[in-house]
Order: sequence, then structure tokens, then C-alpha cells
Amino acid sequence: MSLLSSYLQSGQFCILVEYLTSLNEVFPVRNQFAGYPAVMTLADRVHSDHDVSPLEASKKYPKDAEKVLHFAGKGRDIQDFERFLAQAKIANIQNLLLLTGDKLKEHQNGNNAVERSRYLESVNAVMAAKKAGGFCIGTAFNPFKYAEAERDAQYLKLHKKIKAGADFIITQLGYDIAALKQARAFLKQHHYAQNILACVMPLSWARAKFMLKHKVAGIVITPHMFKVLADEKEAGLSEQVYLRCALQILICKQLGFAGVDLSACHKPEEQMLLERYIEQYSHLDLDALERLWNQLWKIQSGHEFQPELNYFSRPPSSSQLIKYHHLHLMHDALFDSKVARGLGRFIFKASFWERASAAKTLLKTEYISKHGVVGCESCGQCRLGDTLYICPETCPKGLANGPCGGTSLDRCEFGDRECIHSVKARLAKAVQQTQVLKEKLIPAVPIAVRGSSSWKNWYLAEEA
Ligand code: SF4
Repeated sequence: MSLLSSYLQSGQFCILVEYLTSLNEVFPVRNQFAGYPAVMTLADRVHSDHDVSPLEASKKYPKDAEKVLHFAGKGRDIQDFERFLAQAKIANIQNLLLLTGDKLKEHQNGNNAVERSRYLESVNAVMAAKKAGGFCIGTAFNPFKYAEAERDAQYLKLHKKIKAGADFIITQLGYDIAALKQARAFLKQHHYAQNILACVMPLSWARAKFMLKHKVAGIVITPHMFKVLADEKEAGLSEQVYLRCALQILICKQLGFAGVDLSACHKPEEQMLLERYIEQYSHLDLDALERLWNQLWKIQSGHEFQPELNYFSRPPSSSQLIKYHHLHLMHDALFDSKVARGLGRFIFKASFWERASAAKTLLKTEYISKHGVVGCESCGQCRLGDTLYICPETCPKGLANGPCGGTSLDRCEFGDRECIHSVKARLAKAVQQTQVLKEKLIPAVPIAVRGSSSWKNWYLAEEA
């Protein structure tokens, strides 16, 4: 059992100190932080798509130093992850944090399903790590969502991550205590035993400005928050950044979080300041801590951490509902019924389909009949039956199991469309199919399968 697992199992509040591999430094290994057990974590490709890999960076540290390695699925296939797992085992890495990751800086749209940049979903990575065995598996979760459908979609996917085998959960970076409380309550309400840790960071005005300027995916900085930080900077109160971070850590502890993931606090002088504040305020109870927190953030209504909802989310239109019911009927008749399965197997078993010309014609026919209706990109492993007939390939990251953490008020991280997972969550509610989005673990599509006919693959998979 890893040290981290033992902290989580014994209920010892712990601090994961996160380092960026792009800094190319060897940081002092911390076993303790402000009196709490500490573990180092190495983040994956935060600054650029070409940062040193966490596995490579981990070699600079003693073998017995407890580490959590991040693995972001961006630009990766399931085979890349399986290779990573094998290497992590050899390097005796026991703790993983698996995430889909934000948009690749060098994302390729590509002209077809093979050329496009791919993202391995966290759900699929968790499933593979669980199957490999021997890892303490963490997964990321973003509770800071303020449109109903995007919040629903996040929680539906969290169910899947847990079902896939996640041992612990780390939230996205965020400052809304109400959203953190909600995430904790969710686990309790569903009797999930998984521990949850909150990602925290000393938030200065300069950092907030950087995040707003670069639209860092999934992080909410409201105008109110930015003004508080700007006023503070103006008044020369820079140390309040660390006091606030200390308060958030102590609040999370009081709320029953298993620990925190401390990011962007790698300099010894920053860590000392933060530790000093944690020790100074650790005697306070939750009420007193929250009072101080609210004072520092100048909270009055409680809505100051929430972005302004600038539109009304509508229920699915009648044409969306008709399309769903129509496709559902067709799917049942052509792919799920006993007769269809038997007939399909019989047809596609013929050696005729091995001919290149026949395979090409079949692929083209499938593409033409589905692209205009659902946006099919010939992934070769049709998942429409598990995604309420909304093709996962219409998500720029190609995610099938649910959204990444990067949406903002139902808008996709890529900014050019509504998030398809919000659309799906809304539709699921209307047709009473949320169970599908909550429970059905959709396997990853291997690169080798892309660009082949899913029809043939479907019927012949039945055979295998
Ligand atoms: S999921 Fe189905 S509709 Fe979407 S790309 Fe794959 S085969 Fe086409």
C-alpha cells in the first residue's frame, strides 16, 4: 500500500505539494507541511505540450520519496497510457492522478477521424489503471459549474469515474466554498467511500490576471474576486494571498476533505509563509474560519464566486426529442434486436467484405448516411446507443463518457459551440435516461479501429 493510501485510509489530512516539470528544478522533498503529512505531485504538460514527462522528472528524486504522477490524456491514445502504466510499475510509482487534460496548445483539428488530435478520457484511463492493478488512482473533478446542465454532466461523469475504479478525487482549482461543500455532500449522499481533496493555490492579483488573460480552462475568477485582489495589491497587502490560502486549507479540513493539492507554491519562502498562517489559524473552528474567509473576500450575498449567468438554458426542443426517439427506434431495430444481430453477423461474416473496394464502399455508405444526421466521423466503434444519439466525435476532444472540466456556462472549452455533454445531460433528463449517462462506461476507441466501418465491427464483435 502506498503511503498516500495509508493517509487516506487512516483519515490523516494530507497536503499534496504540486510541482511543474517545466520548471526544470529539483525541489526539496517535503514529508511534512505545517505538521501534516506531505506528498509531492508532478503535473503533466501544464506549461506546454512538450514539458518533461512526470515519469522522467520523477527519476531526479529518491526512489522511496512518495509521489503522485499526473497523466493527462491530451494527445494520447489508450496504448500510450498502457505503456505509461508499465513504465510506472517498473519505476515503483504507486499513486496516479488521471485526467483528460485541457486543450492541447497544438491541437490539430484534422480533416478526418485519424488526423485529429485525440484525448484519452479520464474514465478510460481509470479503467485501464484499475485493470493493471497495484495503483492508488486519483481522478479530477470540477465542482465549479454554474449552469444546471454542465453541473449535472460533471456529477454524472463523477459517478462513472468512481464506478471505473477511482480511489480518490481531486477537485479543480477553485475558491467557491459552497461548491466544495456540495461536492463533499454528493459523496456522502451516494455513500461513496472515496476521499476528496481540494486543489488550492495562493491566488495573487498577477496570477488571477494571467488566468483571465489566457482563459485558463475551468477556473472561475469573477470580477468581484479580481477587484478584491487588485485592491489588496494596491494597499500592499500581498501576504493576504497566503493567509487566504491557509484559511481555505483549514476550511477544507474542517469540511471533511482528506487533504489538499497545493499548486503554485514551490518556493521555500512561499511555503514558509503559508505554513506560518496555517499554524497560526489552526485553532479556529469552521464558523470562525469561514467568517475570516468571507471578510477577506468581502463576501456579502454569497454569490460573489459565481459567474453571471448570461443566458437561459432551454429544455430540449421538440425536434431534438423527435430525433432522439426516431434514432432510438432505429437503433433498437437495426442493431439491438435478435433478428438484426443474427442477420448482420451472417452478412458481415462473408469474405467479400475483406476486399478493399467493398470495405471502402461500406465505410462511405455509413459516413454518408450518418454524418449529416449526427456528425459521424467514422470512428469505427459506434457509441451512439450509449450517448443518446449525440455523436462523441462532435466534442472537439472526442469525449464519450462526459465532459472535461473546461466548460464555462455550458460553452465548450474550444469556445465555438455549446458543450455536447450539457446538451446530452439536458436531453437525458427530458427522456428519463440519466441512468445511461451515469452508469455506462464507454470504452476508448483504439487508433487502429478509426476509419473502419462501425457497422461491420458491431456485428462481428458480437461473434467474438
Ligand atoms: S460514435 Fe458512431 S456516429 Fe459517432 S463517429 Fe463513431 S461511428 Fe460515427
